[in-house]
Amino acid sequence: MESISDQRGAGQAATASARAEPVISVRGLVKRYGSHQAVAGIDLEVRRGEIFAFLGPNGAGKTTTVEILEGFRQRTAGEVAVLGQDPATADGAWRDRVGVVLQESEPEPGLSVRECLVMYAGYYRKPRDIDETMSLVGLTAKAGTLGTRLSGGQRRRLDFALALIGDPELIFLDEPTTGFDPSARRAAWEVVAGLRKLGKTIFLTTHYMDEAEYLADRITVLSAGQIVAEGTPRTLGGRDHMTTAISFTLPDGLGARDLPAGLSPLVEPGSGGLAVVHSESPLVHLQMLGNWALGRGFDLPDLDVHRPTLEEVYLSLTGSPTTKDRR
Ligand code: ATP
Repeated sequence: MESISDQRGAGQAATASARAEPVISVRGLVKRYGSHQAVAGIDLEVRRGEIFAFLGPNGAGKTTTVEILEGFRQRTAGEVAVLGQDPATADGAWRDRVGVVLQESEPEPGLSVRECLVMYAGYYRKPRDIDETMSLVGLTAKAGTLGTRLSGGQRRRLDFALALIGDPELIFLDEPTTGFDPSARRAAWEVVAGLRKLGKTIFLTTHYMDEAEYLADRITVLSAGQIVAEGTPRTLGGRDHMTTAISFTLPDGLGARDLPAGLSPLVEPGSGGLAVVHSESPLVHLQMLGNWALGRGFDLPDLDVHRPTLEEVYLSLTGSPTTKDRR
């Protein structure tokens, strides 16, 4: 799957210097609830125009951090600048520049989608165009529908629209696709990707690794209040340098020593004749294996080539058991 971050769309091209400017800068952030330290002195930097994914297991401290960045929660210690201001003391003009899509919201009773957007637009100095915003989130056909009559996925679209109506520069998305069906998730991803094309900066929290992989330019993983890894979806936790597992069942009566000399030392025998080659040069080793097998008339029907997924990397970073560990 081609990641959005691999697509260099014209609209997403903020200038290099503007991109370099941090939209969020955090140094030594600490949050304690009584004796419990939920955030243990973290540093973060989010650049203009990027989709930044903030990942971590339940209770890691993500919501606490995000709410401090949004100005909804006070920190215990550390320095925080969001769009150049301290969120703890920022003014109304600053709030207009920040959009928030919360996990759950209730639509305004008695108002249609359009009426709801008109009402929210009235709170801002320079709101976005209502029709354009409905079109961006795919709600044009529902303009006249009461908010309370929307499906769950459509309500989330309305939430997006409400967060965008003030034309914010920075948008916090808190688990934006939880509970969506697969096609609604894809549609929401396209909305998020569309926001980046508009030059917005997105701070995304999610528990879905495919979402982070598809959307994020950079990922930071938080665990027990501390940052345990930072990188792109491709490089996180050294993923780009991890070996590829080539597995197959050895034909009856053969062992690892019967394989070509370049392969046999790399083979880890498994149960039931399974052989796994941990390879740093998968193409070379596949060719060796293919030549060997075809030359002897073996078709290795269960041949499998597996690169570590983002989910596996994430699970190992956060100390959770992976499916592989349980095998
Ligand atoms: P999740 O993925 O489940 O939403 P999270 O990473 O957002 O988790 P937080 O909600 O930031 O985690 O919670 C971090 C820790 O702080 C948890 O141990 C939680 O119990 C604790 N905590 C959060 N809010 C409070 C509060 N208001 N008072 C006391 N402890 C809190």
